[in-house]
Amino acid sequence: MGINHATSGAAVWFAATAALPALSTDLYPLAPMGVLAGALVCAGAALLPDADHHSGTIAHSVPVLGRLAARAIEEGSGGHRHGAHTLFAAVVVTVVAVLLGRVTAVVPVLGRIPVGPAIATIALVCFAVKARDVVKRWSTAWLLGLVAAVAVAVFSPDNPVWFPVAVALGFVTHIAGDLLTVEGVPSLIWPIQIKPPRAWDRTPVLNAVWKRNGYLSVPLLGHAGSVREHVLGVALALYCVYAFVAVAMQAGHIDLIPLH
Ligand SMILES: [Zn+2]
Repeated sequence: MGINHATSGAAVWFAATAALPALSTDLYPLAPMGVLAGALVCAGAALLPDADHHSGTIAHSVPVLGRLAARAIEEGSGGHRHGAHTLFAAVVVTVVAVLLGRVTAVVPVLGRIPVGPAIATIALVCFAVKARDVVKRWSTAWLLGLVAAVAVAVFSPDNPVWFPVAVALGFVTHIAGDLLTVEGVPSLIWPIQIKPPRAWDRTPVLNAVWKRNGYLSVPLLGHAGSVREHVLGVALALYCVYAFVAVAMQAGHIDLIPLH
């Protein structure tokens, strides 16, 4: 479900940025505003794999065009939950994000601003807020995307690494989420799809993890849209609210310092 994918993307971003200072000095300092912008980008990127579904959130994003794009991706990737739900697709999308991250422009007063990430942010944030049903109208969703893009352009860190990291994390989080459902995801080394031997296929439990069609699943959440999925979605949403408030308070604190 779109809502839970967007929520899990934001949650993973908050958790990763909270843990990263200990792991990497390369990504830091990521200012609180950068963390918030990244959460929106990561939430939007967590919807990208389902661009392969003609009735998914992204298919409705732009009249006619959204559906045409979703159809094209669906057919090009071999159908829903196929090529677009693989590590191969994650690498392709991350490379695109790295290239977009390099598109910058020098603007008077603001200095160098990340044009590529800002433009991508418009679409990703629009998808994210619509999937979360934060807004009802698509026009409002696009407007919020625009506001977030301005925030990204003005506040995002000089270090361009955050953008591809947010996109990659969101994309992989989606695949991990689908892996937890009964339906599962294609082989991790797609397009090579290895099917299990017949004896494996006849063994209960084992044949639920590595399926006859070669798909993998760790079906902890049951079917897509199950009660368990909703419970996890609510828990992740609560974590996101907590993290958002914590980071926003930090942002407020930092902004207040020059006033003293
Ligand atoms: Zn999916």
